[in-house]
Amino acid sequence: MSPPTALVIGAGIAGLAAAAALTRAGWTVELVERAPEPRVAGAALSLWPNAMAGLRRLGAAARIEADAAPIVRMLLTTREGGALIDRAVADAYLPTRALLQAALRNMAGDLAVEWAREAVELVSAERGEIGFAGGKRRSADLVVVADGVRSAIGRAITGTEETYRGYSGVVALSDAMEGDIPAGLAAEYWGRHERFGVFDLGGGRRYWFHMRTARIGEPAPTLGEIAARTAGWPAPVRDAVAATPAERLIPWPIHARSAPKRLARGRVVCVGDAGHAMEPNLGQGACQAIEDAAALGAAAIQTDDPADVPALFEAMRLPRVRQVVARAGEGGYAVHGPVVVQAAMRAALRMMPGALKKRAAAGVQTMPDY
Ligand SMILES: Cc1cc2nc3c(=O)[nH]c(=O)nc-3n(C[C@H](O)[C@H](O)[C@H](O)COP(=O)(O)OP(=O)(O)OC[C@H]3O[C@@H](n4cnc5c(N)ncnc54)[C@H](O)[C@@H]3O)c2cc1C
Repeated sequence: MSPPTALVIGAGIAGLAAAAALTRAGWTVELVERAPEPRVAGAALSLWPNAMAGLRRLGAAARIEADAAPIVRMLLTTREGGALIDRAVADAYLPTRALLQAALRNMAGDLAVEWAREAVELVSAERGEIGFAGGKRRSADLVVVADGVRSAIGRAITGTEETYRGYSGVVALSDAMEGDIPAGLAAEYWGRHERFGVFDLGGGRRYWFHMRTARIGEPAPTLGEIAARTAGWPAPVRDAVAATPAERLIPWPIHARSAPKRLARGRVVCVGDAGHAMEPNLGQGACQAIEDAAALGAAAIQTDDPADVPALFEAMRLPRVRQVVARAGEGGYAVHGPVVVQAAMRAALRMMPGALKKRAAAGVQTMPDY
């Protein structure tokens, strides 16, 4: 009997991870991507223990453990210095997006990506049939929709639509620098309506982001403007900005969706941002895409009938991603909500016992047992 077939749409983190999981499960996988050639969008990503557990399941953790900077401490503080969370972290890493994508591509063995192939239409969910730009159609035992937050097929299946979330930012990687950021520190500094994250990337470099409340379409601030806005902020913030060439800034307006109503229909499943694009407040978007892949791999080996996989996948993933999307959305109010809400959320965080904070983090950062 020939192995089941999968058509994966989109070669971002979600598509690469899903393709690797299904390949490991013995499926024949076609991976198509709209971009004409390989490219890396973005700077770096925090991978928390749930993502590392997922990568281990896929056989891809070793490269991250070897080449990415470990995150050993997480600090969340107001810009004036009142710590809201300060805790030790184990089994978390900060790969560049380029490293994570390379690790996932290698993990998929000699799996080829078909570039410049744009999916435009779900012809039939029941037959697993997709229409492509130029008029071609293809079908497979399973279609994995992994084409990101703007996915039209994802919109139709999940019953959700992406919207601008009222804040916008830039992400960047600094040059190597002297500075006093302790090794393995992932720090986020909160002002009113703006925040700055600075993470140790190893080799004296930093990954950083700056987010501020902004109207839709408002141009991203220049490096000079960010330097001026953060002039009175703690040294790690100022040092990271000073060590970054202006052309490294990547503007990133935040679009996300509400919690999905569905993740599957017929022979089609949605993974990654196509299924559950969330706000970046928990650093979980890519981590959840990796969990999706682990669950998909588990579903694929649980049944001999590929037609069962979508329902199995949805049952494993829907309650979990609904919860994480909701929590990621709530997190934004502590910086970008009305000032009274910001103050109340910060006071609540400050007063919350350490054990409760730890339990809340563990709830998000532990992969369910798929
Ligand atoms: C500022 C910021 C910081 C973040 N930090 C973190 C973090 O620290 N940790 C974390 O886990 N997550 C983080 N995230 C979230 C994370 O970046 C995303 O959740 C993740 O990259 C989504 O991956 P994806 O593969 O689903 O989508 P994408 O990366 O968008 O990939 C989709 C792919 O599909 C292709 N495509 C699109 N349309 C089509 C089509 N019609 N046909 C074929 N191909 C198509 C695209 O070209 C692309 O290659 C952050 C997000 C932001 C905005």
